[in-house]
Amino acid sequence: MKQSPHFDEEILQLLFDNETTTSGDISHSNLKVNLTQFITQKREEISQHSDTLGQLAPEVNSAEEIPTTSINSLQIVMSHLERFVELYSQTSAQLANELTGIKSDQVTLISAHKENLTHLYETFDIHYQLHSELNDLANSLAKVETTEQLLGNAEEAIALLLKSMLSEKEHSKYFVKDIHREIEDLKAINQHSEDISRAGQQQHRQWDKSAQQNIGNLDKLSHRIKISDSDSKTLSNEISLLKDALSEKTDIDKKLFSLQQKQIDKLNKKLEQTEQDASTYHSQLVEQRLINMLDSLTKLPNRKALEQKFEANFMAAKQSGQSLWVAVADIDNFKSINDNYGHSAGDKTLQVIAGALNNSIRDSEFIARYGGEEFVLLIPGLPQNTINTVLNRLRERIKSIPFKFKDKKVQITLSIGVTKVKAGDSDPQVSFDRADKALYQAKRQGRDRVIIY
Ligand code: GH3
Ligand code: MG
Ligand code: MG
Repeated sequence: MKQSPHFDEEILQLLFDNETTTSGDISHSNLKVNLTQFITQKREEISQHSDTLGQLAPEVNSAEEIPTTSINSLQIVMSHLERFVELYSQTSAQLANELTGIKSDQVTLISAHKENLTHLYETFDIHYQLHSELNDLANSLAKVETTEQLLGNAEEAIALLLKSMLSEKEHSKYFVKDIHREIEDLKAINQHSEDISRAGQQQHRQWDKSAQQNIGNLDKLSHRIKISDSDSKTLSNEISLLKDALSEKTDIDKKLFSLQQKQIDKLNKKLEQTEQDASTYHSQLVEQRLINMLDSLTKLPNRKALEQKFEANFMAAKQSGQSLWVAVADIDNFKSINDNYGHSAGDKTLQVIAGALNNSIRDSEFIARYGGEEFVLLIPGLPQNTINTVLNRLRERIKSIPFKFKDKKVQITLSIGVTKVKAGDSDPQVSFDRADKALYQAKRQGRDRVIIY
């Protein structure tokens, strides 16, 4: 008979390679030893009984008083049994190969993800007080051998980023994207393990069923043939031992597969948890990013948001050829508001003006608080004469707000410098500087006006 493959050990190897030794779990290493011994023994038994039966056949054949048809049937059944034992070996070997394949896939995958994570950790721009924690994490990543450990490490990295984000509001959107991609890969490989495991179970069940049928036929035949008492005893003894060995093997298969399934389920749960962590982190990040983009006093987009928006609009305008205007609006003599009526009156004034400006623009337009009492507007798609009208209307609108400080009516005006992004402008800053120059001229010419450059 063909040499039995070390299939069962392979499964166990796979099962226990990923084991976690949390308290309360089954004693895996003991179980491993016991199961391995048991399986080896059972495999040998099955093979021995089948061999013994094979040896019995010629003896039976030589006995003259036995009808030839019975002997033939016995030989046929025995050869069937022999074939099934052979089939079992082949199936097992195939399964073992596939499982070994998965294992090597996992090893390759783990090392690839370790590399990715290491690189990601290197690019983390986290709070300086967390640097040593990140170093520890990177060091322990180098020792990672299993998917569970890998996920654990990534989970810790997420926690570290959250911590850093709370203290420094750093953005790590790329990390979140990468971690999502890695989880998807790990999920796929886990699903593959599960499919293979299912297929293995099915093959084993089929094999057991056929083997049972053949042993049953053998049993029936053994009652019909006439052989010496001692041979008959040996035959029925061997058959019953074969039955026992088969049923014990079936039990062991069940245990192994349920253990394997448990391991797969556990990893799946862990994957889900990590994915959830990453999603939570991602939404906090998005929220944080939105907060980071807003000016806290006026609730208008801040300078950082303006930079991003301007960059995008600048590129779009260049590509489409559509006009893009950039306007810088500065409150006139604002210092005197603070000086005469106090800083909080100044704050309130900024809020009112910001609100009025924001309410005056269209959806396609954009306004940001650039800093202090300066605002920047991005206005796409208008011809020169229209921009003049639009901005003057805006200026008049602010001027008409009836401010009253200490029972005194105060009129607040704006000076605005505006320019169109030109084909020759190498970057947004060039256009911005021109608008700023126009603003400076508006101030020099007496304030409360719009100057176009
Ligand atoms: P100009 O017409 O030349 O622009 O005169 P100005 O007084 O508006 O300009 P200046 O640059 O001399 O002063 C700007 C003032 O805006 C000074 C600063 O105290 C005030 N300011 C800037 N940010 C804030 C703020 O957030 N709140 C308050 N209350 N005042 C602010
Ligand atoms: Mg100013
Ligand atoms: Mg000013």
